[in-house]
Amino acid sequence: MQRRIAVIEKDKCNPTGCGGYLCIRVSPGNRMGREVFVVGPDGKAQVNEEVCTDAESITVKKCPFGAIHMVKLPEKLTEKPIHRFGVDGFSLFSLPVPLFGQVNGILGVNGIGKSTAVKVIAQLLKPNFGISAATGETEETQKESINKLIQMFRGSEAQVFFEKVRDRRIKVSMKPQAVDAIPKTFKGTAKELLRKVCSYEKKINDAAAALEISDALETDISKVSGGELQRIAIAAAVLKDKGTTNVYLFDEPTSYLDIKQRIKVSDFLRKLAKPETAVVAVEHDLIVLDYLADSVHIMYGESGAYGVASKPRPTRNAINAYLEGYLKDENMRFRQHGIKFDSKPPKKAISRESLVKWDSLGKKLGKFHLTAEAGDLPKKHVIGVLGENGLGKTSFVKMLAGEIKPDTGSIHIGMRPMVHSANGGIVSANIRISYKPQYIHSGEFGDKQVTDILTKAQNDSQLMARLEIEPLLLKKVAELSGGELQRVMIAKCLAEDADLYLLDEPAAYLDAEQRIAVSKLLRERMDLHGKTALVVDHDLLLIDYVSDMLMVFEGEPAIKGEAKGPFSMEDGMNSFLRSLNITLRRDKDSNRPRINSPDSRLDREQKVEGRYYYS
Ligand code: SF4
Repeated sequence: MQRRIAVIEKDKCNPTGCGGYLCIRVSPGNRMGREVFVVGPDGKAQVNEEVCTDAESITVKKCPFGAIHMVKLPEKLTEKPIHRFGVDGFSLFSLPVPLFGQVNGILGVNGIGKSTAVKVIAQLLKPNFGISAATGETEETQKESINKLIQMFRGSEAQVFFEKVRDRRIKVSMKPQAVDAIPKTFKGTAKELLRKVCSYEKKINDAAAALEISDALETDISKVSGGELQRIAIAAAVLKDKGTTNVYLFDEPTSYLDIKQRIKVSDFLRKLAKPETAVVAVEHDLIVLDYLADSVHIMYGESGAYGVASKPRPTRNAINAYLEGYLKDENMRFRQHGIKFDSKPPKKAISRESLVKWDSLGKKLGKFHLTAEAGDLPKKHVIGVLGENGLGKTSFVKMLAGEIKPDTGSIHIGMRPMVHSANGGIVSANIRISYKPQYIHSGEFGDKQVTDILTKAQNDSQLMARLEIEPLLLKKVAELSGGELQRVMIAKCLAEDADLYLLDEPAAYLDAEQRIAVSKLLRERMDLHGKTALVVDHDLLLIDYVSDMLMVFEGEPAIKGEAKGPFSMEDGMNSFLRSLNITLRRDKDSNRPRINSPDSRLDREQKVEGRYYYS
């Protein structure tokens, strides 16, 4: 019989917000006198899986926070979970396993157990095999759990791996996902942090040089940028244990990095994979994952309820299977619809009417100087913006949004100059602008709930469904996760009836599937309503998908930046990719963009022809 699990996502459960344990009040089982839903020891709802029947699907729908899951597990999933968070918590079935000599990627939606799996491999989490975790961990119980894993994976590569773990022949080093938590626990400079894990000055300097963070070493850790912090955390993971580590785990190693840094970090991580060393990386940027990994485990299941790791597949096959939503070897469909990319060539620049024009602009921001050559945003076009961090992309968007004023030159709406307000805010009376900034400070919304700030979006069923906003409506904005806040702010921006939409880094904090959903939504809405958008992002796949034209930022990070374009996609991409020394092709099956292997036949041919971008 098909097994079913019932789960309450404790961080979503809000008994006060639902008017007082709504599930207990509406559950058909509870009404019949059975204790299907009860108040748990933590004050949150608790579900009793044993007495939960199909009739409770109504209770699942009633929970306004989407905290209850009742899921039928795939028939093939006969084994017990490797780990379960409490009696009605998330279950992790099977694990991705490090492969020596390879970079092994992990791909899956948020909430599917990727970080949990990585923690089990890193031995930071002792699996309980579905039994409540025993209190007071001892050496013996740790050993027992490893023996169980060995038994569970008998006959597979995983068995060999966990035998090595048992025999202490594996030393694991892990770069955690949440690098922004580092300044909360460590005080001092970046170099002082690295000295805590490595006493060899030369090794610290070499790693810093390879990751291009030498200039940040003397900076206080609370003052470094997100991109620098990410690379400092990577350096710390690699320098740990005097280089004796043989399994490196990197949970989202490219968040906060621009494309150039992502490529650089990927090259750095790839060099760590040797016959006696394995590298595992959780990554949401599909183009980067494709470039970085030799093989990929897909994690599927239901977000917040359960997760399963597939067998490893060669990267290209794995990403295509992920997009298809179907694992052929395992005969497992994990998504009803496949995700397709268009094979049509990118639009060329065409004669067009301008919505916004600017003449040569200049802006001084401290020591940084931003210039922009004269350009315009044509009506009914989506203009992508690419460039390294620290080149003034966000400042340029703020000028268009009317939040800051150029020192020299001016911006024109049609024939009229744009009016800037002294204190920021959208001020042009000529056109309506809707702006999603890069940094969103959820604290500024005070006690407000999502429903309070999404008044317009709630009437737009397409936005609500595609961005999965419904379960977030009664949550406080200040309590949203990074990915949830991003989706809410995208919905808020797109719900406005504007002429120009400015979106600064909409892919940040989103998983691969959400990034594709946002790309498609954006493209469809701009096409349908004939609107103009400017989209800044580091996710090449998103920019490639949404853009008709491209602006490219060049210069020296934090010193000077120059905005160029908009160009046609072909010209803009060729110029940008040439600066990174990479070439792109389309995958012949899925049509998704892929970076050619450096110095491969295609890479060399495209470079000789000056065709860095497919056309
Ligand atoms: Fe309320 Fe949903 Fe929590 Fe039940 S699970 S108490 S309905 S928030």
